[in-house]
Amino acid sequence: MDKLRQLFDQHIAFTAPEPIGIEVSYAKGIYLYGPNGKKWIDFISGICVMNLGHGVPEVIDAIREQAERYLHTMVYGESIMAPQVLYAKALSQALGEGFEKVYFLNGGTEANEASLKAAKRFTGRKKIVACINSYHGSTHGSLSVSGNPKMKENYGPLLPEVYHIPYNDRIALEEIDQDTACIILEAIQGAGGGILADDGYLKAVRQRCDETGALMILDEIQTGFGRTGSMFAHQAYGVKPDILTLAKALGAGLPLGAWITRKEIANAITHNPILGHINTFGGGPLSAAAGLAAFKKLESGNLLEGVSNLENILIEQLQHPSITELRGKGLLYAVLFEDYEKSEQVRKTALDKGLLTIGFLNIKNGLRISPPLNITVEELRTSIEILKASM
Ligand code: PLP
Repeated sequence: MDKLRQLFDQHIAFTAPEPIGIEVSYAKGIYLYGPNGKKWIDFISGICVMNLGHGVPEVIDAIREQAERYLHTMVYGESIMAPQVLYAKALSQALGEGFEKVYFLNGGTEANEASLKAAKRFTGRKKIVACINSYHGSTHGSLSVSGNPKMKENYGPLLPEVYHIPYNDRIALEEIDQDTACIILEAIQGAGGGILADDGYLKAVRQRCDETGALMILDEIQTGFGRTGSMFAHQAYGVKPDILTLAKALGAGLPLGAWITRKEIANAITHNPILGHINTFGGGPLSAAAGLAAFKKLESGNLLEGVSNLENILIEQLQHPSITELRGKGLLYAVLFEDYEKSEQVRKTALDKGLLTIGFLNIKNGLRISPPLNITVEELRTSIEILKASM
């Protein structure tokens, strides 16, 4: 065993008994390169983070330029930092009315935590509705609203007054009532294995929220930034949430999260008490500069139009008797097998053959497909061939 691997085992706190454990020396485009000439296709984009692939020159230049100016000036929200302000403006403009205020944090779970607090504060209500099979993060509040009981059973007590309803079940939306502060849900259940909101479901959620005064929080941490073929998934569904949460690709590889909403909701946390939600590093200038550079590139190019073509190729080519189902949208897919053993066999074989993929938190029999959005047709075909050959 090489030295670095030994130190990894000795000193890095693991999240699982057997980490994937590949060593990456550098990464470019869709490829991760190991120290001894090994090379893997990153077929998951670092789990929906590197949507433009690795080593994007515009992102690296923006980080370098910002690093030479300043790294940190003050805690979040107090001093004016150009990358943060300009990124907030760009996001607000892209999202349109109802999203004029952006609150930056460091990642996804923080964004959800803060948005739940804002919903309680704004509505003056305590009850929260969430969906079975969801994932919203690992800190206490986000874990409370996540819909996988197994992940929670040894970590209680969690937040009270959280009610889980089946996703895509319209009748169950009656759980949202006059006491409800918010419902939090995903446009596509990512950790649940690529489960799409049915036609009209998000609209029904919107309608129920309007009837009861509850806020709709849409977690697009995984589906944001072109992953499903539109800049944000809710745009294709024709629904606007009250609060949108973003992270992952938001920082183009650096830590960044955000909740985005209208002025009245954002302002609720600024008084009684003041400083209702604070943090030191949120929207750090390096992360904001990186994210803004990537966002501009994504907005100005024609990458998004290419996603549905790539999706069609994926659906057409990824056929094999071992596959029981292929589900998802855009370039966010789950390939399902009969059981966990088959899924693991395919994952390990694919890794040996030079393709990195990973399973899902809430289902055991599937592998994730979420390559960089700028993967070429040729690269996608090669990836699919490797995956099939691993079955
Ligand atoms: N929400 C969704 C939909 C996610 O997929 C994730 C992470 O996988 C999170 C929230 C939590 O984000 P983070 O890991 O940045 O805390």
